[in-house]
Amino acid sequence: MKKVIVVGAGIAGMSFASRLCGHGITCEIYESRRNASENADRASGILSKKGLERSGIKYKSSIENNLIGGIVHAGGNELRLRKNRTVAYIIDRKKLARGMYTELNAGKCAKFKFRKRLSRAELLELGRDENNIIIGADGAVSGVASAFGFPKIKEYILTYKAVYSKIKIKNAHYVHLFFNSGAAPGFFGWAAPYSKSRMEIGIGIDSRKKTNSRQAFRKFSETPIIKAMLKGSKLESEHASIIPISVRKQTAAGNVLLVGDAAGQVKATTGGGIIFGSLCAKIAADVVYENIRNNVSLWEYERRWRKACLKDLKMHGMIHKFYSGLTDRQFGFLLRAANAIEIDSLLSKYGDMDSWLRTIKNIALRKEQ
Ligand SMILES: Cc1cc2nc3c(=O)[nH]c(=O)nc-3n(C[C@H](O)[C@H](O)[C@H](O)COP(=O)(O)OP(=O)(O)OC[C@H]3O[C@@H](n4cnc5c(N)ncnc54)[C@H](O)[C@@H]3O)c2cc1C
Repeated sequence: MKKVIVVGAGIAGMSFASRLCGHGITCEIYESRRNASENADRASGILSKKGLERSGIKYKSSIENNLIGGIVHAGGNELRLRKNRTVAYIIDRKKLARGMYTELNAGKCAKFKFRKRLSRAELLELGRDENNIIIGADGAVSGVASAFGFPKIKEYILTYKAVYSKIKIKNAHYVHLFFNSGAAPGFFGWAAPYSKSRMEIGIGIDSRKKTNSRQAFRKFSETPIIKAMLKGSKLESEHASIIPISVRKQTAAGNVLLVGDAAGQVKATTGGGIIFGSLCAKIAADVVYENIRNNVSLWEYERRWRKACLKDLKMHGMIHKFYSGLTDRQFGFLLRAANAIEIDSLLSKYGDMDSWLRTIKNIALRKEQ
């Protein structure tokens, strides 16, 4: 009888386990942290409503705030995108992780083993047994990928984010994005309101720029607009982390599959990995089920997730490459031009936060979102 071993109880690992449980198959989940929610707030949770609904993640009890629009700042100009209804949510990542764990644990088909970091030797030992199927859901710096010799992820974003309270936020339903090549080279800074008095400020920088993310964050915090936002605020928490923004060339080999950040299934434009990671984790669970029941090859995972998501992920990659090559002046000019030709209203009407391809299709078909 085959045994399914999941390495990592993040969103991808738990999405995989949940789908597999739905097929009536049990798995073991190894996790180095003490529980599923520890450190889950190292990352943010800005997610499109549509994407969340498409992913099937049960998110409603983790909603921290709702967003109706965003303001993009660059080179002294801004572009406002807005709807008169909720388009995205800020999700409490700890609550989301806790909720997923509680549901899985109650179902009794996933056996969690916390405080257990699988070493390279242990992973290789598990992989040698052909009756084991190993799911590498172990995040951006995947030990599973390195132990089993998968090709490397080429591009990473280093992040630093902090949460502040006691802020007076005028409009708590807009997220701000700041393209500032001095403070956030190769990516951007953001300000995301949790409520009228709590806000998250963060930056991402291209790892190849050899900049320290904490220092870059301090620099970003000193920019006039952020300084004004943070006046009189109280720092609650701060975290550094990492996001992969390029897809691994291979994500299936023998009895090992990679899912989520470990596979690089992340939108390179924004660093959002929850929607695509969980969609691909479900595809992996379907293939594992078919492999156990009908001997379908595990390679099928590679084919299916690439067919479902690769075009979109590539488009995000191309757009990231384009904007990260712009100077602040060029970006500012682009925003001015976008305002002049009313791109803002086109994107507000037809934009899809997760899929540029769907955005283009919506514009062509005049299909409002
Ligand atoms: C600052 C920041 C902001 C972000 N904002 C957003 C956002 O707004 N929207 C969005 O969609 N995405 C966002 N992301 C990305 C998103 O958080 C990730 O894509 C997602 O969490 C990846 O989930 P995962 O399960 O693949 O990996 P992870 O969440 O990294 O989980 C991997 C797990 O594996 C465990 N592990 C690793 N190695 C081992 C081992 N050898 N043995 C046992 N356990 C192991 C780790 O402890 C970890 O818990 C953000 C990321 C960051 C850093």
